[in-house]
Parts: sequence; structure tokens; C-alpha cells
Amino acid sequence: MGFDLPGLLAERAGAGYELHARYLNPQLPRMLHTIGFDKVYERAEGSYLYDRDGDRYLDFLSGFGVFALGRNHPVVRKALHDLLDAEVADLVQFDCTLLAGLLAERLLASAPGLERVYFSNSGTEAVEAALKFARYATGRPRILYFDHAYHGLTVGSLSVNASAEFRSGFGPLLPDTRIPLGDRAALEAELRKGDVAALIVEPIQGKGVHVPPPGFLREAQALLRDHGALLICDEVQTGIGRTGRFFAYEHEGVQPDIVTVAKALSGGYIPVGATLAKDWIFGKVYSSMDRVLAHDSTFGSNAAAMTAGLASLAVVDDEQLVANAERTGARLREALTELTAKYEMLAGVRGRGLMIGLEFGKPSALKLRAGWNMLSAARHGLFAQIVVVSLFQRHHILTQVAGDHMEVIKLLPPLTIGTAEVDLFVQAFSEVMDEAHRGSGLMWDFGRRLVKQAISR
Ligand code: PMP
Repeated sequence: MGFDLPGLLAERAGAGYELHARYLNPQLPRMLHTIGFDKVYERAEGSYLYDRDGDRYLDFLSGFGVFALGRNHPVVRKALHDLLDAEVADLVQFDCTLLAGLLAERLLASAPGLERVYFSNSGTEAVEAALKFARYATGRPRILYFDHAYHGLTVGSLSVNASAEFRSGFGPLLPDTRIPLGDRAALEAELRKGDVAALIVEPIQGKGVHVPPPGFLREAQALLRDHGALLICDEVQTGIGRTGRFFAYEHEGVQPDIVTVAKALSGGYIPVGATLAKDWIFGKVYSSMDRVLAHDSTFGSNAAAMTAGLASLAVVDDEQLVANAERTGARLREALTELTAKYEMLAGVRGRGLMIGLEFGKPSALKLRAGWNMLSAARHGLFAQIVVVSLFQRHHILTQVAGDHMEVIKLLPPLTIGTAEVDLFVQAFSEVMDEAHRGSGLMWDFGRRLVKQAISR
């Protein structure tokens, strides 16, 4: 009788994989078993995870970017305990809560030129709001997006998602248009048609960690203004310090009309999305009392999410995490860039702050070519996957490939990391690259095994 969380967790410890296989998306446990990521984590603190055997893992994935403060940050935890203890009157709906007002005030203080905020519950919802606001405010239907773009997986966001893997089979989607990143002529040609509401852009793309060519976003903004279209910066992944600025668009010297935020604002605890916009855009969408709920979400401004957001931003300020992302990111990128001279298969290092992409490329040495060709014939991106698996299995470092069919891995560590974590990563990555460049060993064996499994499926 009753509910006993600690008792339940102890009684069913380790059953997660079996339960997922039976009741949730069965491909997740299948994939995790295949690549040996099937750990049972018991505890987490800062940049580290601990499994039930007591092994420690360095988290350079940060839950796809939500743990900018590291895991279980004591300030956010205390704020949430305080909130529960305060027994607040949450989600009355017909009231104006202090917490939502305060979080909006704090976010806008970091976004000069933007005046209003709409709160939702995830990155894709923040994007959906941005797309709807842009359409309503301009009275135009079409959104432009870039090659490799990723803005979420609900239908509106999916319509501006550049990956066929995600889109395929879910159509018809909205009539939006993809253009190459950096292609001014393509942008201008689409804008001339007169029906474009906005261009949506990640100031650094999550898929592949592509940075726009220098000056391109500024040029794009000028073109958009000339044609009466809006600039939406999707900062769901890059926002709140990740790239060494509070917002990554600050690197570009642009002034977006709409900005989306999510992930890190949660403190890693409570899902949240925020869509920041210029006052005139809200003035159109919410133009009269009749339209007060023209775009809305039941849970949007819930007290736990607002509290986690306020506490997280206080930590970002107190611990100077934006400056740390810039400083530590530069150190990590420099150390990794040095390795390109040593390892021919490390083709490039890119990114800003603590959002870093490592790109691999075909070796010229004959003895390495056969292995590379075998892997890329099976699937482009398999070498990167094997690097991720080696970093995890041999060195207990969690990373990810930066997208389907890409020979790129992405580093997205907490913004709190220091020299110890930089050194740990660089040392481990060097060892993985050493082994790869020997052309034999466990790494390539694993690759062969994966290829065989893929073929026998
Ligand atoms: N936009 C960007 C730039 C993202 O990186 C993501 C998530 N990776 C999203 C939108 C979607 O966010 P969510 O998964 O919270 O819906």
C-alpha cells in the first residue's frame, strides 16, 4: 500500500532494459545492447555518472545538452525542494504568477532587442511557437531552413528538419523550403517570391556542428529585412552559454526577431521551452482579449519549470559559466586541433565554446584504407560510431555521433568542466586515435562485428 520510491527503485533495480524491450520503444535497448552502452546508472554528480558496479563515466553528452550546470546541481535541487515545501498554488491558469514573470524578466535581460516571452515544455514546442508567431505576424506561409537543420520532431518543426531519415513517411509536411547554409543567392531567390515568413537557423548546427560562414548570418538578416521576413534563431542547443556567449547569435552580430531556448534552462530537472520575441510580434498574435489563448500550453509556465530556470540562470551567473565555456572550450579545441597533425584520420576540429565537432576523414595510408573502406561501404558514419564506442567502453567517456551518415562526433560537456576533464578527454581520445591508426586491434574488430551484424539483419 502507498508509494515508496526508494523501495520500488531497490526492488526493481536493473529491470529498465527488460521493461523498455517489452513496453516502450524496443529499438532503444536493442541498440544499447549492440554497442555495449547498456549500463545501469545509479548516481550522478557534476560531470560524472556512476553505474551500479561503482564505475565512473565522464559525461561529454550532457543529456543532449540539458546538463549545462552538471548533474544534480545543489542550487537547483534546493530551489526545487523549497518550491515543493512552499505548497504554491500552481497552474491556476487564470492568474499571473510571479515566477513566470521573473524568469521572463531574467531571460530578456540577456536578450537586448527582444521584449516578450512565451513558455512551453520542450525545444520543439518553443520552435512550433516561433513558426506560428512568424506566420501570423507576417501573414505569410513559408519558412526557410538550412541543410542539416534540426529543430525538433513535431510536425511543424519536422517541416524545417533537413534530414530525410526523420521526415520520411511522416508527410505531407508544411510547404517549407531548404537552402544550403551560406548560399546567399538561394536565400535571395526564395525571398523574392514574397511568401516567406521567416528563416530559421541554429547559429551552430547540432547535426554535424556546422558553423555558418563568417558574416553570412549578418548578410542573411539584411536580406530578410529588405524582404519583410523574420530571423528566427533556434538556440535550444546553443543557448545559455554553451558557445561562450549567452546566445550563440551574439558571435554573429545579428539581432533576431524570435529566439528559442530550452534544454539548459531546465537545470536538467524540469522540461521547459521559451520563445523570446519582439513586442510587435506578440502585439499581432495576442492582438485582443479574444485572442488571449491564441497560442498556449496547459503546463507552459508551471512553477517547477520556472523555478528550475531561475535557479539555473543564477548558477550560470554565479559560477561564470559563459566565460568558462569560452575559456575551457578554447583550451579543449586547441588541444584537439594539435592532434590533427598527428592523426591523418582526424580531419578537422570545429565549433565554439563547449560545442565541438571532431570530423574524421579517409586515410591515405594503404594499410588503413581497407578498414576505412570496409566500414564506409557498410554505412557512412560507422568510423565515428566506433570512436564513440571505444571512448565509452575503453575510457568510460560518453559522447555521440553528430548525426546520421556523418563521420563527425560531437562533444557537449557540462559548462562546469575544468582542466581535469579536458586532460582526461584529450588523453583518452589520443589513445583511441593511436589504436585506430595502428590499423588493428579491438576497435577495428568491433567495426567488423558491427558490419557483419548489419549485413545479417
Ligand atoms: N532545436 C534544436 C536546435 C535542438 O537541438 C533540439 C533538440 N536536440 C530541438 C530543437 C528539439 O528539442 P526537444 O528535443 O526538446 O523537442
